[in-house]
Amino acid sequence: MSKKIGFIGLGIMGMPMARNLLKAGFEVVAYNRTASKAEALAREGARKADSPKELAEECPVVITIVSDTPDVEAVILSKDGVIEGIKPGSVVIDMSTISPRATQDIAACLKEKGVAMLDAPVSGGDVGAIKAMLSIMVGGDAEVFERCRPILEAMGKNIVHVGASGMGQTVKLMNQILLVGCLIGVVEALVFGQKSGADLEKAISAVKGGAAGSWVLSNLGPRIIKRDFKPGFFTDLMQKDLNLVMGAAAEMKLPLPVTSFINQMYYSLQCSDDGKSACSALVKVLERIAGVEVGQPETR
Ligand code: NAP
Repeated sequence: MSKKIGFIGLGIMGMPMARNLLKAGFEVVAYNRTASKAEALAREGARKADSPKELAEECPVVITIVSDTPDVEAVILSKDGVIEGIKPGSVVIDMSTISPRATQDIAACLKEKGVAMLDAPVSGGDVGAIKAMLSIMVGGDAEVFERCRPILEAMGKNIVHVGASGMGQTVKLMNQILLVGCLIGVVEALVFGQKSGADLEKAISAVKGGAAGSWVLSNLGPRIIKRDFKPGFFTDLMQKDLNLVMGAAAEMKLPLPVTSFINQMYYSLQCSDDGKSACSALVKVLERIAGVEVGQPETR
């Protein structure tokens, strides 16, 4: 497998992932819509490309991690996109979280050019990206996955091939259902504890090792108590994922009552916030209903 990787999308996730590829000895050619971010990575050893097309012309493996489905379509399929430059036999690995169905359509367009595509969305947040500890769920051809495994291993730890094209995205949406289900439990428990006068730091210490413990409680709980809503994972991106879940469920006529409710709560948050807080700001919706603010000692 080539040591030369094209990397598109140097956001909260993409920047540390690209850095980890550099650390692992890959040659990285980077493109970012806001050029200053690619210039920053160029100072760390990458080469900056001026368009996805230019990047794809020289890279047999192209990674994309941008925001949403239309953004992946823009960098891959549009004018000056990856598809205009990429050579037959190359591989595109999309690590964004996007629609499973759109993923299959993009893969079909690339296949017409003799290019394979893996959908390889990630879980583990900004911390997982920085520490190269991401979970990566991969859809696409199994042989292509095995060829690309060393690249993925530079960015993640738990890397599983979960099925054909689009299945990585489907499993990622399962991940998001699990994540928000856990998060709503954590924020409701914190609001309850606050109203009851509990010491929330001690409460988290007491329960995190037991049956109710979780990554969400251990990692996001302390940040919520400190009212640290710096992202992490933007509220808007979480809502984007929940809308993908609800869209896929609607196509199957599948009821998802709990996720649907949380989806509505995020709309409430989007009406009052700018969408750029951490997804754990979900607590603010419950706080409004309850008339109590988590992490305020004077209410204890
Ligand atoms: P982010 O910080 O907002 O970064 C988004 C990146 O995509 C930026 O580099 C942005 O370029 C680029 N981009 C967006 N739209 C574009 C377009 N139309 N054309 C070209 N570039 C475009 O987001 P992030 O947190 O890194 O998330 C990226 C993806 O990973 C999303 O699909 C998200 O759901 C997923 N994800 C995020 C997390 C997390 O904890 N943050 C965890 C798991 C998965 P500019 O710099 O020019 O804006």
